Amino acid sequence: MDSLRHHPTVFHVTHWGDDPFSRGAYSTLLPGGTPEHRRRLGEVIGGKLMLAGEACNPVAPAMTHGAWNDGLRAAEVAIESGARRVVVIGAGFAGLAAARRLREAGIDCVVLEARDRVGGRVHSITLGPVRVDEGAAWLQQFDDNPLAAHAQHLGLPLRETDFGQPLAAAADGPVPDIDAAWEALRAGIDRRLPLADGVTRYLENCDEPTRRATRFALDANLILEACLPLESLSVAALDEEGVGAGDRFLPQGYSQLVEQLAAGLDIRLNRPVSAIDWSDSPVRVDDEVADFCICTVPVGVLRDIHFNPPLPPAQQTALDHLGMGQLEKVVLQFDERWWPVSPSGYLRWYDTPASFGEWLDLTDAVGTPTVAGLIAADALERVFAGRSDEEIAHAACKALQAWADAIRNNGADL
Ligand SMILES: Cc1cc2nc3c(=O)[nH]c(=O)nc-3n(C[C@H](O)[C@H](O)[C@H](O)COP(=O)(O)OP(=O)(O)OC[C@H]3O[C@@H](n4cnc5c(N)ncnc54)[C@H](O)[C@@H]3O)c2cc1C
Repeated sequence: MDSLRHHPTVFHVTHWGDDPFSRGAYSTLLPGGTPEHRRRLGEVIGGKLMLAGEACNPVAPAMTHGAWNDGLRAAEVAIESGARRVVVIGAGFAGLAAARRLREAGIDCVVLEARDRVGGRVHSITLGPVRVDEGAAWLQQFDDNPLAAHAQHLGLPLRETDFGQPLAAAADGPVPDIDAAWEALRAGIDRRLPLADGVTRYLENCDEPTRRATRFALDANLILEACLPLESLSVAALDEEGVGAGDRFLPQGYSQLVEQLAAGLDIRLNRPVSAIDWSDSPVRVDDEVADFCICTVPVGVLRDIHFNPPLPPAQQTALDHLGMGQLEKVVLQFDERWWPVSPSGYLRWYDTPASFGEWLDLTDAVGTPTVAGLIAADALERVFAGRSDEEIAHAACKALQAWADAIRNNGADL
């Protein structure tokens, strides 16, 4: 533990994978999975039950505004069904959107939330003097994002991240042209093969520099976005959109937005739902009764709920093709900003094997030297398994230090 030249004053390590109410970061397409499975998962069941949330949105999956839009979609179906009382399970963005729309339509609606807080996979914490996000940080697809519109309407401070301009370094030499390698792979891979086989076949036909660039492109653009190893992903994951141009984050924390949007709703905290009986009318959700139920729990925890009767085959098949991506954050705070400054605030580290591949430098936004590192899939397994938070933070510091050394010594891709 003594090889660090810079020690954080405070740090925070997330554990979404161990969280019983998420079991991972966000949904991803397993082998054979397509956006159609997302759509089917969200189809109305028996005229009185719907699954909703980011996983059910084929257009903006894995994103907060995808969850929001899907909650609205479910609410419209409940309204059309003529329901007078609706139970919504989960107070993340999907549940909040549904409950707000139902309230607007004059429908009696109660939200049952397992945690002692609202927001689900959106949660800001205090670290030293600043607020940082454990979960979602960016409002993505900003120009077409209803949550971005709410944030702007509420006057919340926002800051843009230019993902196209990372300060990037590689552990083993100059940074290759990642974007070109990524586009070439997407155009050239045989999509009839399982993803891992397709990648292997594609790499066999590449020279060594192209292989290296392609591996980095896969780490950065696929594994850090879909958050499972190649063997566990669908070919269709190559086309699901991740971070992009114009995305903005909330320097004072995403929870601000959640709290504003939750205001005035009938939300019952500490109410983990264990059973949904939709065999008859009304629907019974533990001891609550309603004409309609909207269940927004993440796909990772859906199997913990006992459905009577079981979910229909369309939803079961869809669920078999959707998994939870594993992504964690380590936030580090220091007395001084000792690392090179990226004008965009965005850093990329191409390590072999992959480690903390993506960093957001929050220093300018929050006024205290603070960085957040992201780690996913098998890199996460390598770095987190069997380690204490202190050891994990130490590994993150080492990765940041190695990135900074590479920038200074090997020549950065500025
Ligand atoms: C590390 C990380 C980084 C991310 N980065 C981004 C980003 O930058 N931009 C972006 O757009 N998205 C990002 N996401 C994804 C985003 O957070 C989610 O897609 C979105 O918040 C999901 O909203 P939801 O309402 O569908 O689900 P959730 O927010 O998970 O809400 C579901 C709710 O159901 C509750 N619940 C679970 N089980 C039960 C039960 N049995 N009974 C009652 N309640 C239950 C949960 O506690 C939760 O509150 C990130 C996620 C993570 C974890």
